Amino acid sequence: MNPPPSPPRAWAEIDLSALRENLHTARESAGCAVMAVVKAGAYGHGLEEIARALAEEEVVFFGVANVGEARRIAEAGVTTRIYLLGATWAEERQEIVARGWTPCISSLDEARHFNSLAFMHKSRLKVHISVDTGMGRGGFVAEGLPAILNEIEGLPNLEIEGIGSHLSSADEDEEFTLGQIAKFAEILQSLGGAERFAWRHLSNSAGLLGYGREHCNLARPGLMLYGVSPLATHPAQLKNVMSLKSRVTLVRDLPAGHAVSYGRTFVTAKPTRVATIGIGYGDGYPRHVSGHGAEAFIRGRRFPLLGRVTMDQLMVDVTDSEVAEGDEVEMFGPNIRVDEVAAKADTIAWEILTGITPRVVRVYV
Ligand SMILES: *Cc1c(COP(=O)(O)O)cnc(C)c1O
Repeated sequence: MNPPPSPPRAWAEIDLSALRENLHTARESAGCAVMAVVKAGAYGHGLEEIARALAEEEVVFFGVANVGEARRIAEAGVTTRIYLLGATWAEERQEIVARGWTPCISSLDEARHFNSLAFMHKSRLKVHISVDTGMGRGGFVAEGLPAILNEIEGLPNLEIEGIGSHLSSADEDEEFTLGQIAKFAEILQSLGGAERFAWRHLSNSAGLLGYGREHCNLARPGLMLYGVSPLATHPAQLKNVMSLKSRVTLVRDLPAGHAVSYGRTFVTAKPTRVATIGIGYGDGYPRHVSGHGAEAFIRGRRFPLLGRVTMDQLMVDVTDSEVAEGDEVEMFGPNIRVDEVAAKADTIAWEILTGITPRVVRVYV
């Protein structure tokens, strides 16, 4: 007889009802339909599970980064339409046409290629026009767009269903963002008015929380669905979705003058009780928080990390506490927000969430 499998060292609890509540919050704040952005494994939350959970809600599209993600959603039995958020690569397009996924078009070459593939497939592919209002990553610039649009409209196997653009600074630069919104409106005007497009979309999470929807009837939230606000002023209405957890593996009393972890960046000033936790940067908990006042939540309170985060373990000062071997530890979650951890690692919550590695077992609750 094999022994029963041991519990995981590090795991991420994912609260699907919080996810659904955040979707409702997003739809209410946007005041229009929603494309749920589930790229990068649903921001580290697990692509198939999140897509299945949101497919039961009213979601018009799932936004993904590439065909690999699109395929995983389709193969999970989810029938919600799939939208590819960035430019496509020539070798990806045949599958996109065959599966009826929706690309956004950034160049005439791309449009012509999709048209000929759709012709061979005897189908008419729905596409969106991507316009660059200031992000500088993809899409057509405004100049000359009316003529280009007419040319794409003349391609018989394409149907222009929508138009979208992307905000680069909605969480940090209001003036620039208002400029992008105005530019998008101008572009719509120059193309014969918003009504020419069944779907008009511009806002990410920061855009939909911080700005009006103007001519748009679709929003593309990502981060806020996972309970994190890109704007410091809006966190309360969002529910935490992922809690990154581990356990205390060891508790020891170290004398004064004893170094802790690689490089000896921390040395005890007095006798110190040190707990070792079974999680590290190999799980995606960022090593960059080392020395920046990061904390772990154990038995209802916070304890400071000591020295550097190592690959599989990290150490915490638990002096004057009852912390014991086997205690559950929250590295981020409802008590320590992931954006706090991100700030201490000098990065953004998006990067922390998408960086949680496959070794961390996802547990859905
Ligand atoms: C990632 C992405 C989004 C979602 O952005 P959040 O800031 O996570 O809400 C929306 N639109 C596009 C084009 C994206 O690439």
